[in-house]
Amino acid sequence: MNIHEYQAKDILKRYGVRIQEGIVAETAEEAVTAAKRLTEETGTGWHVIKAQIHAGGRGKGGGVKLAKNLEQVKELAGQIIGMQLVTHQTGPEGKKVNKVLVAQDVYYPGDSEPKEYYLSILLDRAKGQNVIMASTEGGMDIEEVAEHTPDKIFKEWIDPAVGLQGFQARKIAFAFGLEGEAFKEMVKFVTNLYKAYLDTDASMFEINPVLKTSDNKILAVDGKVDLDDNALFRHKDLADLRDLAEEDPLEVEASKSNLNYVKLDGNVGCMVNGAGLAMATMDIIKLSGGEPANFLDVGGGANAQTVEAGFRLILQDPNVKAILINIFGGIVRCDRVANGVVEAYKNIGTINVPIIVRLQGTNAEEGARIIDESGLKVFSAVALKEAAQKVKDVLATA
Ligand code: GDP
Ligand code: MN
Repeated sequence: MNIHEYQAKDILKRYGVRIQEGIVAETAEEAVTAAKRLTEETGTGWHVIKAQIHAGGRGKGGGVKLAKNLEQVKELAGQIIGMQLVTHQTGPEGKKVNKVLVAQDVYYPGDSEPKEYYLSILLDRAKGQNVIMASTEGGMDIEEVAEHTPDKIFKEWIDPAVGLQGFQARKIAFAFGLEGEAFKEMVKFVTNLYKAYLDTDASMFEINPVLKTSDNKILAVDGKVDLDDNALFRHKDLADLRDLAEEDPLEVEASKSNLNYVKLDGNVGCMVNGAGLAMATMDIIKLSGGEPANFLDVGGGANAQTVEAGFRLILQDPNVKAILINIFGGIVRCDRVANGVVEAYKNIGTINVPIIVRLQGTNAEEGARIIDESGLKVFSAVALKEAAQKVKDVLATA
């Protein structure tokens, strides 16, 4: 689960990680009030207005602007709130901005230039260890740094049995080329950041940029946090940070019915039980000349309700020209699924796309008979190849 920058910074602060302070606002007026309060609390005269969406690259997309007085705070917040912000991570349609973070300007000029670094923590699945990635090339797109100058990314793996050791935090501060007060600050920053990452059961923390101010303070200017969905049950407070407005509406609906649904761009909707079979089904759709419109795993216990919920989801996608249902009857019997399909079909009323049902496993023949005798525009297939051929046929006539 992704959360907003302002929520991520709240977490960091709780763990003693210094942050660029800010207050979230939903209207231009709220932004002005927030800016006044920040001036009182932090002494800042200038403010940065930052669009809060679940995507990076906001700066380049025009979602991060510097305001030098309260009129500008009002004007810029007014512009950014409600805008459709397009960044390299949002896709061409962009994302609607509902909130801004009014933050203190921390790039004040001093005797030395402020310096931006990159820090992230994530799980290295191949090694089975968390890895801290650090780079002096902060503020930049890290993918570009990785592609063109991979030697500028420093990695430190953490042994889960002993945790982050002091010498490792110091190695990272050395890798940044820091010394004196800034070095000590960075060691503290990394240590606290790692503790926050572990305690929240996060799967990723990315702070880009981490800023060294001219008076040697180290602080998080940005914060991207991805929390592990499977661990949210033990973090009620974090689960509450979920912002449904940021998620695909169909995926939100799917999660309410406990369906594992991922929207894709193709024209053949598919409903399958089991993730592996779903992947194989998507392959067979492609081989038959179609493109999958979605990934949908209805799970092991498919019944009439789940089939209906799945149907409804798939049908909401206007690109769908055919639906392929591919169920392996193991725990669930094929005749039960077939009855579920027929029932759902009748409940929904008008379904204008052809449906191909492939049932295999326990009571497969019985299932096929129910489909064939239902009188509905449903085609049954027993072999996967046969199902693919039928998809091809119906697409040709669609
Ligand atoms: P992102 O573009 O979505 O990654 O958003 P960031 O939070 O990283 O902000 C983008 C850029 O805005 C940063 O790389 C900074 O260069 C700039 N920025 C952020 N905070 C400040 C600030 O307090 N003052 C100034 N002058 N620039 C800032
Ligand atoms: Mn950033």
